[in-house]
Amino acid sequence: MNIILLGPPGAGKGTQARRLVAERGMIQLSTGDMLRAARKSGSEMGRRVAEVMDRGDLVTDEIVIGLIEERLKDDHGAGFIFDGFPRTLAQADALGELLARLGQKLACVIEMQVDDEALVARIVARSTCAQCGEGYNDIAKPIPADGKCEKCGGTQFIRRADDNEESLKQRLMEYYKKTSPLIGYYYCKGKLCPVDGLADIDEVAASIAALLDQKAG
Ligand code: ADP
Ligand code: ADP
Ligand code: ZN
Repeated sequence: MNIILLGPPGAGKGTQARRLVAERGMIQLSTGDMLRAARKSGSEMGRRVAEVMDRGDLVTDEIVIGLIEERLKDDHGAGFIFDGFPRTLAQADALGELLARLGQKLACVIEMQVDDEALVARIVARSTCAQCGEGYNDIAKPIPADGKCEKCGGTQFIRRADDNEESLKQRLMEYYKKTSPLIGYYYCKGKLCPVDGLADIDEVAASIAALLDQKAG
């Protein structure tokens, strides 16, 4: 079953995607993670996108569609979770074509509904384990008191270069201008499934699980 997690920066897409990977064996395709990996590797493309990402602007459709196309060749197992992709109508059309070519379907688009106040608070509190990528939050999910990642025991935690208020404002603007039209797009295709993203992490996970079980059943 292939699904999209749609929502503004900080909505909880990565948090829920990691749970679906652990609990259902689905494959997370996060274009944000792929782009950060490209930056870290020092590749030509990574160097080109670094400044754009730090500013909070969107990377070109061509680059992210290329990244996704490459990964769709992998065995899909229990299905793909598109996390942070598509972010424009052109990306949504491209994804539809790629899936059709592979004889694959989109089960649903989970729209994670949150409000802007909560996003700012969440993002300035966000950190990630440097070793395994587990997400933490100073308020909702603090790093354990012994300073060790609960998943891997790692002791280093990183904060993203673009997780500051200024870049977040720009990312939110990009979301409203370019990504939010996808809500109407997928509604018209009968794929939209809204979820209350303001509930706590376990509750959001339970709502998503119920939706997926209903789609599978
Ligand atoms: P968040 O978790 O805050 O939603 P992501 O990790 O998904 O952010 O993305 C970080 C940055 O990477 C974005 O601000 C943008 O510059 C770039 N990016 C990620 N996915 C896409 C995409 N599908 N299209 C264009 N740019 C993208
Ligand atoms: P996204 O991938 O959509 O940008 P993340 O999953 O990285 O969002 O979540 C952003 C921050 O908010 C992280 O620090 C995460 O731990 C925290 N968070 C995620 N879901 C919730 C939730 N339901 N309630 C409170 N905090 C949350
Ligand atoms: Zn870890």
